[in-house]
Amino acid sequence: AFDVLVVGGGPAGSAAAIYAARKGIRTGVLAERFGGQVMDTLGIENFISVKATEGPKLAMALEEHVKEYGVDIMNLQRASALVPVDGGIEVKLENGAVVKSKTVVLATGARWRNMNVPGEAEFRTKGVAYCPHCDGPLFRGKRVAVIGGGNSGVEAAIDLAGIVAHVTLLEFDSQLRADAVLQKKLRSLPNVDIIVSAQTTEVTGTDKVNGLKYKDRVSGEEKRIELEGIFVQIGLVPNTDWLKGTVNLSPRGEIEVDAKGQTSLPGVFAAGDCTTVPYKQIIIAMGEGSKASLSAFDHLIRTSAA
Ligand code: FAD
Repeated sequence: AFDVLVVGGGPAGSAAAIYAARKGIRTGVLAERFGGQVMDTLGIENFISVKATEGPKLAMALEEHVKEYGVDIMNLQRASALVPVDGGIEVKLENGAVVKSKTVVLATGARWRNMNVPGEAEFRTKGVAYCPHCDGPLFRGKRVAVIGGGNSGVEAAIDLAGIVAHVTLLEFDSQLRADAVLQKKLRSLPNVDIIVSAQTTEVTGTDKVNGLKYKDRVSGEEKRIELEGIFVQIGLVPNTDWLKGTVNLSPRGEIEVDAKGQTSLPGVFAAGDCTTVPYKQIIIAMGEGSKASLSAFDHLIRTSAA
């Protein structure tokens, strides 16, 4: 059995594994795909102290750093259930195997919800973006659209309006769903247009995005907007389906954690994009992973099971 079993091999899971292993305790990492979302990222310019890097390069560095320690890496393995048992926790894998540990750090991350329209996948990183904090500055002086009129869409539009030349916010529903105070701020900005009842139907481009098509859901008319960037803000889905009924989840499916990364289940901690901690970023996930692991160590030295 492990002392700390980390589920997830992204920035949060890697940090958790390194912090646990450095305590000299038996540490395992279980990951469906080591590297996590970072593997899908091209440029990273906000990983503090590294001016610019690329996702796959950072993912490789994460794996190398984890491998510096005696961590048991179980890659390409998907966890399907978490079961509290006497003296610890069992994690069941999709392949039928069971891994036992005294404590667990959950770091299964999240995924951006896609529009699933033609051109979206093709122009990903060529104008189609998901993270305004990450990619906003790449569109300085250009025209962009934000898809989604919830809090994250409206926040993104306000944020981007200060950087880019023009923002068009498109909402599927007949009204925005964001908090009134955010809507008021958005409407006060001179370089923002808001279009409601708009169903995005296609991302167009040549080598890069040059526009989008949408259907006016009232008139049924198809319309086109010329622009250089599209920020999709229709939800971030945490990878926590397999945890339903075991640890407390928020209405959005995020694992509820306290300031130490403790979940509702003793001995089970969580970190990164799969949790209720706000602002989903690499550097935040790493900090949270380290914290959850230190909390797991603290739990071990305080329980008789240690
Ligand atoms: P993830 O990176 O999502 O890792 C989750 C891990 O858990 C993976 O290893 C996954 O395979 C594994 N996993 C999931 N489910 C299971 C399961 N059931 N069993 C076993 N393993 C499982 N952030 C920045 O700070 N700067 C940027 O420039 C930036 N750009 C981005 C660009 C894109 C295109 C995307 C998608 C994200 C970007 N982000 C950026 C956000 C950043 O990647 C995330 O905040 C960060 O990766 C979160 O780390 P994490 O470890 O919590 O989760």
